[in-house]
Amino acid sequence: MRTPRGFSYAGIHCGIKAARKDLALVFSDVPCTAAGFFTVNASRAAPVRDAEARLPATSVRAIVANSGNANALVGPDGDRDVRAVCEAVAGALHVEAESVLAASTGLIGVRLPVQKLVAAAPLLAAALGPGIGLAAEAVMTTDTRPKLASRTITVGGVEGTIAAFAKGSGMTAPELATVLAFLTTDLAITPRALQRAVAHSIRASFNMVNVDNDMSTNDSVFALANGLAGNAPVDEHTSEYAVVAEAIEGICAELARQIAEDGEGATKLVVVRVAGAPDVDIARELARAVAGSSLVKAAMFGADPNWARVLSVVGGRAGSRKWPIDPTRATVLLQGTCVFADERPTGTDANALRAKMRAPQISIDVQLAEGDADAMAWGCDLSYDYVKINADYTSLTQASADGTVSRDDRLTNYSPGFKRALLVEALSYISRFTNTRAVVKYGGAAMVKDSLKTSFANDINLLRSAGLLPVVVHGGGPEITHTMEMLGHGKSEFVDGVRVTGRDDLKVVEMVLTGKINTELVSLLNQSSAHAVGVSGKDAGLLRARRLVGEGGRDLGMVGEVTHVNHELLEVLLDKKYVPVVSPVGLGEDGEGYNINADAAAAEIAIALRAEKLIYLTDVPGILDNGELVSEISAAELTGKIADGTIRGGMVAKSKSILRAIEGGVASVHIIDGRTPHSVIAELFTDRGVGTLVRRD
Ligand code: ADP
Ligand code: MG
Repeated sequence: MRTPRGFSYAGIHCGIKAARKDLALVFSDVPCTAAGFFTVNASRAAPVRDAEARLPATSVRAIVANSGNANALVGPDGDRDVRAVCEAVAGALHVEAESVLAASTGLIGVRLPVQKLVAAAPLLAAALGPGIGLAAEAVMTTDTRPKLASRTITVGGVEGTIAAFAKGSGMTAPELATVLAFLTTDLAITPRALQRAVAHSIRASFNMVNVDNDMSTNDSVFALANGLAGNAPVDEHTSEYAVVAEAIEGICAELARQIAEDGEGATKLVVVRVAGAPDVDIARELARAVAGSSLVKAAMFGADPNWARVLSVVGGRAGSRKWPIDPTRATVLLQGTCVFADERPTGTDANALRAKMRAPQISIDVQLAEGDADAMAWGCDLSYDYVKINADYTSLTQASADGTVSRDDRLTNYSPGFKRALLVEALSYISRFTNTRAVVKYGGAAMVKDSLKTSFANDINLLRSAGLLPVVVHGGGPEITHTMEMLGHGKSEFVDGVRVTGRDDLKVVEMVLTGKINTELVSLLNQSSAHAVGVSGKDAGLLRARRLVGEGGRDLGMVGEVTHVNHELLEVLLDKKYVPVVSPVGLGEDGEGYNINADAAAAEIAIALRAEKLIYLTDVPGILDNGELVSEISAAELTGKIADGTIRGGMVAKSKSILRAIEGGVASVHIIDGRTPHSVIAELFTDRGVGTLVRRD
């Protein structure tokens, strides 16, 4: 693509995003006339407020723009970060800090990892070159492709070039600028003329894009003119003004169209034209309203020729604004086919029209009978993927402690397309699972919330019908604590996740574990299929135990450690495809009952059964290090993390049990988040796990 004289561009990766480019730079060899247009969102971002206060100007040299983090809604730190970035880039470019502007796009409400941008400034400056495409790539967020446009025109006998790049995607709705766009030209233009030409172009282009009716906090349109073409400066009154304004308008319209076409999750570009309106403002508002209507957009996704929704939007807007418009006198065309005229539906062949609407671009034309003003708006369809992208946006886009944002698709909600892919993947796994023994420790939040209990029960039944042989070992958690307090036993003390259990406490523990939790869980599992069998560790001497002494000789009361597992009882049940549900109380050689930590019980049972899998369901995503999920860890590393205090509390008991299970020959051990519905299924039946996998080495 041809770029204007004296401009260079860069796009690099500075580490805001995990792997993709995230930092762009536009630089002019000489000072530029600069104009800027910004979102009117009252929550606008720090770089927007900064640039807005400094434009228009005549001495701008550079604009630095990052993606991945919008530097919005983070308080005064945001303003300081803008200054720091501008200063660092100015330093690297050997120009005044006042001549550098900043723009940001990405996650809002999270502080910019400013040190990464500052550190990358020299690299960014060194990367400058003619490659405007790299800069366009570096400002992308959920955009699937870079957006570029250029024009070369002759002004006053000299050739000048205007080249621009933009990003759009979601949170894109009209109201001043609606995207990040950067226009650069070597033509000489006065600040007033530049401001006016761009403002005019935006009204008919970026302001007519409607992806999702949500106004962004960061939208900015910048225009830089460095005058190196050598023409006499174009002023609003010179005859050349119209030529320049038209070229700018063409570029903005082209970018606007690319933005709508690449709207989040979009499968189709929708072009809405409204004509015959009383005035241009009304025409524009109506066109944008049709393009933004969720019902119209959903119909376009389904190739549904539902023209009535179009007229309903027009009528709704006209009625609420009290505009003198009668929608019944309108003519409506879909894909050029007249569907409504002369106050009634034309009765066109809906099937033929439906076929036409499967095209990647759909036109909606509304010809009103109230005037001669017209307008055009660009929108897109509303696909399942739009919901998917935005339903999961902040949970999947994770900012780590050092500010890097990355996507964790493993927890994503699945659209029908994904579901198909998932099923194909799952089915290919299922055959491998026939007769696989998996011990599932049921604990954490999944034991408390009704919807999670139900989804856990469904999952276990589903695993069983897929041929897997599950054994459930449950904990007691909040239920025991609650009952103890109710019965006046006071607060339990925990040592590394193990409950100190007095002789009297043991009665309550056993009552709750075996009497309540176990029977409730068995009932729940047996609601849809009658295969669950409740077993106490005392039954058939399943769990033989002796008193466990805590670290440093500490007395833990009636807490036991498993000395032997009578797995024959479980074998008998598994052979007949029953699902054993084990309450972790043990029987001592001394005839005493013992409270056994459920994590430990699950590990011992898995070893005794030679289970292939051991899964711990808990109330965290897995093992966390510095707040970040560790998706895989070796036994040795895990030992280290217990020793260095990264792992504390309940996770200590879990980790020690896991180490014991691995040592005892269990091939794979997982810790997964019981708060995510169906995490057990996701863990077993998909290629990538969802929590922490502990490896032998
Ligand atoms: P469960 O009912 O599943 O046994 P616990 O409360 O006994 O739950 O154990 C899980 C808890 O361990 C987590 O809720 C968390 O507070 C704590 N924990 C301590 N250190 C870590 C760590 N490094 N990673 C994850 N969880 C940890
Ligand atoms: Mg625990």
